[in-house]
Amino acid sequence: MSNRSMAQNEWQRRIARAEELGAQYTFAAEILRFYVAIARFQENFYGEIGRALERSSTGTDGVASDAEPFARPLQPDVTGQFGTFLSVVEQSGPDPLREAAHELRHGGEDLHFQLLAVFWNGSDAGALPPGPNDFFARAYLQPYAASIRSRSDMPWSGGTPYLCPFCKRKPGLGVLRPLGDGGQRSLLCSFCLAEWEFRRIVCPGCGEENHAKLPVYTAEELKHVRVEACDSCRSYIKTVDMTKSGRAEPIVDELAAIPLDLWAQKQGYTKLQSNLMQL
Ligand SMILES: [Zn+2]
Ligand SMILES: [Zn+2]
Repeated sequence: MSNRSMAQNEWQRRIARAEELGAQYTFAAEILRFYVAIARFQENFYGEIGRALERSSTGTDGVASDAEPFARPLQPDVTGQFGTFLSVVEQSGPDPLREAAHELRHGGEDLHFQLLAVFWNGSDAGALPPGPNDFFARAYLQPYAASIRSRSDMPWSGGTPYLCPFCKRKPGLGVLRPLGDGGQRSLLCSFCLAEWEFRRIVCPGCGEENHAKLPVYTAEELKHVRVEACDSCRSYIKTVDMTKSGRAEPIVDELAAIPLDLWAQKQGYTKLQSNLMQL
């Protein structure tokens, strides 16, 4: 196959990994099947946004010249593909989401824009509570956010930021990447998918640095994904250890590691930020 030799883009890599893990782990098969449908939409949408931004960046209004693109109000034309996205959810989503998507699709463009704008303006405060609307807005706008983030020349001051340096949302997961004999930890944004370095023994929820209060838990099923919990603020985050599985796609492997969420929640920990599938 000639496609084999072509470099896959980041969405294609996630889709391929989701198909692989879905075939391997029955407990994650359903969620990953749905994720694949969403990611296919996101890949197309991302390409389309990229072409549109390219055209507009030749003018003075380009995102690349904007130091704070996430502070700009959302433009109404961003709703263009929202109906298509809702149809994807109607076809492939779990029952409660299907019904909500169907209802929303018939709600009209004004309602669609309102919903997306509330999420866009919400930042860390989480203007939408977890649930279908948060899912719709987050999943739909994610390629848009990723696209303007990757084009922006926003300065990043470094340090150990608790929120995404670009869009100011909470991290959705952690990643350990090989560095010398150990691993360098970074956090991945739950919205625009930016990745930034973060000190290894620090709770991203409250800043706790006491090793004894930061328990780590791994499960038999996916040994390269771990729960990093905090006994001070009782939050947890999952971290994908690339030093143990170089083939992992962090976002997808985090989604697949459902048993870890069940374990953490049973212990009374609350996830710092639920993932795209609301887990
Ligand atoms: Zn972000
Ligand atoms: Zn904490």
